Amino acid sequence: MTPYYNYDISLLRRTLDACLNEAYRYGYQVHYALKANVEPVILHEISSRGFGADCVSGWEVQAAVENGFAPAKVVFAGVGKSDDEINYALEQDIFAFNCESLQELEVINELARLKDKVATIALRINPDVNPDTHRYIATGQKESKFGISYTEVNEALDKLQALSNLRVAGIHFHIGSQILDMSSFAELAHRAGEISDWFFERGVAIEHLNMGGGLGVDYLEPEKNPIPDFAAYFKVFDDNLRLRPSQKVHFELGRSLVAQCCELRTKVLITKRTGGGANFIIVDAGMTELIRPALYQAHHKIVNLSAEGECRPAERYYIGGPICESSDIFARDIEFPHTERGDILAIKSVGAYGSTMASNYNMRPLAKAVF
Ligand SMILES: *Cc1c(COP(=O)(O)O)cnc(C)c1O
Repeated sequence: MTPYYNYDISLLRRTLDACLNEAYRYGYQVHYALKANVEPVILHEISSRGFGADCVSGWEVQAAVENGFAPAKVVFAGVGKSDDEINYALEQDIFAFNCESLQELEVINELARLKDKVATIALRINPDVNPDTHRYIATGQKESKFGISYTEVNEALDKLQALSNLRVAGIHFHIGSQILDMSSFAELAHRAGEISDWFFERGVAIEHLNMGGGLGVDYLEPEKNPIPDFAAYFKVFDDNLRLRPSQKVHFELGRSLVAQCCELRTKVLITKRTGGGANFIIVDAGMTELIRPALYQAHHKIVNLSAEGECRPAERYYIGGPICESSDIFARDIEFPHTERGDILAIKSVGAYGSTMASNYNMRPLAKAVF
């Protein structure tokens, strides 16, 4: 029955509770970023605790609503939203559209006008903060496709005066993902305060500041650090974000809530040595179940469950999947216990951006989840 995603619901619950405890300390509202994982079991665990939802497509808005998230706590971001997706979200009366371009303001205004509604929006502003993360998952620099740039904010305000079916309630940021250096978040908090002041000076009362997501997890030692340091994360914002009375702070966490609660179990199909002398383990999971290593050179810890409790000698191995792509490799030249055909391996920390990025390339069926 391999490969399959093996979930630890107890760890998920402890992680969610840790996050909520720290967020409540400051009155912060956390929206779960659905794109990290959309297993209904997982969504119910999260929605039943009162988290909001952060969606990046109309289908995610629908999944959120159908799995217990209150529409009044749903935000909808995305650099290209289709009319159908916008219309669906308008009908649900979601909390806010996070708008990423000047043209999008006109589109949502027009669709809201046709429904005789006023859409609540937040402007996603690109703060030009450069986090220390892989360039494919950084989103807040000035050449990024996401958000409205600093230089366009004036124009956005002028435009908004004429758009009577929009109400600007907030400003929104998201600088990237898998960020462990808290100084990037401190910088973001400072910029957000400045930008909020700028709006106030122009007569626009910003009600909520949405700091996005991005808190990283420990992919190197997941067993040692199963729960991210939410205390340090929220404290950085409390220390660095100057708020006006009545302003609320929102977050959109994905990875940090769900990454560690799942491992991908996979069986060894073949072991072989290449002409060049590389020792290969080929397993029955591939980039179709976990594309992060192939897509952004991500590291995932791998353990040989069959070798646990035995003293097998350590060797050096490459571990790859069966997919017909050279990039379908999970680990290169790592030290790993002697491994044989039929052994079961666990690829750790796959709860975020694992199953949601799965495909059926090579006509493979989607892998099952076990809870
Ligand atoms: C992906 C995304 C998130 C979640 O990011 P994580 O790094 O998983 O916390 C939050 N907000 C937006 C707009 C996103 O695109």
